[in-house]
Amino acid sequence: MARQHERRTIHVDGEWRDAISGATRDIIDPADARPFAVVAEGDEKDTDLAVEAARRAFDQGDWPHTPVAERAALLRRVADLLVRDREELGLLESRDAGKTLEEGRVDIDCVADAFRYFAGLVAAEAPGRVVDAGSPDIHSVVVHEPVGVCALITPWNYPLLQASWKIAPALAAGNTFVVKPSEITPLTTIALIDLLAEAGLPSGVAGIVTGPGHSVGARLAEHPDVDLVSFTGGLVSGIKVAQAAAPSVKKVALELGGKNPNIVFADACASAEGFDTAVDQALNAAFIHSGQVCSAGSRLIVEEPIRERFVAELAHRAGQIRLGRGTGTGVECGPLVSEQQRAKTESYVASALAEGAVLRTGGKRPEGLGDGYFYEPTVLDACHREMKVVREEVFGPVLTVETFRTEDEAVALANDTEYGLAGAVWTADAGRARRVAGRLRHGTVWINDFHPYLPQAEWGGFGKSGVGRELGQAGLAEYRESKHVYQNLAPKPVRWFAG
Ligand code: NAD
Repeated sequence: MARQHERRTIHVDGEWRDAISGATRDIIDPADARPFAVVAEGDEKDTDLAVEAARRAFDQGDWPHTPVAERAALLRRVADLLVRDREELGLLESRDAGKTLEEGRVDIDCVADAFRYFAGLVAAEAPGRVVDAGSPDIHSVVVHEPVGVCALITPWNYPLLQASWKIAPALAAGNTFVVKPSEITPLTTIALIDLLAEAGLPSGVAGIVTGPGHSVGARLAEHPDVDLVSFTGGLVSGIKVAQAAAPSVKKVALELGGKNPNIVFADACASAEGFDTAVDQALNAAFIHSGQVCSAGSRLIVEEPIRERFVAELAHRAGQIRLGRGTGTGVECGPLVSEQQRAKTESYVASALAEGAVLRTGGKRPEGLGDGYFYEPTVLDACHREMKVVREEVFGPVLTVETFRTEDEAVALANDTEYGLAGAVWTADAGRARRVAGRLRHGTVWINDFHPYLPQAEWGGFGKSGVGRELGQAGLAEYRESKHVYQNLAPKPVRWFAG
């Protein structure tokens, strides 16, 4: 396992260091609200040093010119090291982010998959695309080159997974980078930097600055020597990042929030098995990782005739979800990541009840779980689109229920959001499934499923869910510039100007 870091968590030019200011931050275990690690609290000065090192490594180092096969081999070695350290990294992620140990393990598997996928993608590519210029005397080719120094800013809900969706393609394409993990969940990203070095990544290519968004993140976004900023996080921060990046005209990729509809038609529930599956997946959609998932199916949009039966069963099962520390036996849901996140959840539930929502289960802190930031899975019935809880991302274990009578109404409700990240439709009618999927203005649509993603398929949002895509071919393209090289093999004067 990679070395554990205490305080010296800023990595610049191959060296681990303290913050220049000497400031530190306690990392809190959300299951008991106690500190369990200490990291450096970097600021703008640490950020400038890290960017300078990444700039040097890009402009003067070998990585951007390293043959693709070698870059791909390095990414595969990283994947192998992740598999080797799966148990420790999964545990660290569980403790840091408050997810169950099994979720932590699955996250690490997905991180390894991302490294393997981007290794395979670049290794299989042609070195350039020859363009027919219409003359045997012209050789015209479009090649891809790395963008340069990438600033990678990540959130706390899937700390290492979100980092890997940026780091793997950035490295595959030959860039250097500085990553800034969420200040509350930096530990697995710190560990990954060690694994990159162990896999043989040259010094200076990978940097990390631990610290807050308003200093480290903001400086990365505005820094004139950063060529690209890729940000995953909330809408408000994403807008600030885009604004800070604008004066230097750097590339900007934003993966923001979602308010994701889960549409259930009655025909999906005609059989006992269909009903059980749709309810089970609606639970999973809304409550996995306590709803702290950008693609959480937090809006159930259910056909009127089955509403009561569906919601009753859903609320019953939600009430049985076992909460506790992520490593506890039989625990199905951990705490929220912070007191702030729990308070935000509580305020959304209070506003929903004040606006007329009906509480079917949850709506409070559970008894007997000590000081951890736990909150009961909550189902709010009789919701409508004007409610704040329906329009805004809660990012907690809160499911709202709306109903529809026609297909058009279901689509209109599902599209009535400023976001557009993901959504699902449940129906036994294949034609209707395709029609509805075609009309949803969301970056991912699941039919009779919820939550799966594939590294080979683009991930990202319509509307205010973001700009650009991660994963898939587009997820690699974000980290590249296209260059057209046009070679005239028989140059002659053009005589445009007579004299
Ligand atoms: P956040 O916006 O508070 O923070 C995200 C990151 O940005 C953190 O590292 C933070 O320190 C940094 N940051 C904050 N302010 C900044 C600023 N002004 N300039 C630069 N960086 C800044 O988000 P969060 O609470 O950590 O994460 C939850 C959000 O992330 C949710 O909205 C969720 O939907 C979103 N998310 C989206 C995806 C996706 O794929 N679309 C995936 C995961 C999470």
